[in-house]
Amino acid sequence: MILLIEDEPGIVDFVKRGLEAEGFAVEAVLDGAEGERRALQESFDLIVLDLMLPGRDGLEILGSLRQAEVTVPVIVLTARGEIEDRVAGLDAGAVDYLVKPFSLAELAARVRAQLRLAAQAPTTSLRVGDIEVSLLTREVHRAGEPVRLSSTELDLLVHLMRHRGQVLSREEILSTVWGYRHDPQTNVVDVYIGYLRRKLGTPENPAPILTVRSVGYRLDDAS
Ligand code: CA
Repeated sequence: MILLIEDEPGIVDFVKRGLEAEGFAVEAVLDGAEGERRALQESFDLIVLDLMLPGRDGLEILGSLRQAEVTVPVIVLTARGEIEDRVAGLDAGAVDYLVKPFSLAELAARVRAQLRLAAQAPTTSLRVGDIEVSLLTREVHRAGEPVRLSSTELDLLVHLMRHRGQVLSREEILSTVWGYRHDPQTNVVDVYIGYLRRKLGTPENPAPILTVRSVGYRLDDAS
């Protein structure tokens, strides 16, 4: 069951009908406070969350979910140009975001990707070298020190860790972590690899993410 929290009836109708046509069950809530209450009290597989909402805005809802340690994947909907909001949304624990207007195919692909990632989590923690990830609390440690990652960075790291020692192509990473088909225009994988390297690495202890020229990336498991 997917919870859709969105106050624009046109978008609610579009998303609800579109996702239902893809085989998903969708509950729509048009008010932020009501959406927050249901997100905290009920168990949803995924939440599609608008940022600008009456009652309680999307970022406040994300904050409440994080505080209550609700680990449901969230896809945030933002208006074009809300760059700061998008960054704040990712920092607040959103899994992914979509800029309005978005296509239904794009949303459905993201939903499927996030549900697939969530379903792949039978183990509770991963460790490669000195990098440790708790899949329950989504906390990351490197050499015992906490590392703060956005949800997408964490999903990328988890994917690399599950395939430690293997060379993963950009296309493969893009489709698994972001749910996209191959798009030669996007460099989002390279950008996020850069974020991960910066957050995980120090001058003395660089992140063990190796670039495999003209192919992709590999998480080195030798360290
Ligand atoms: Ca809105």
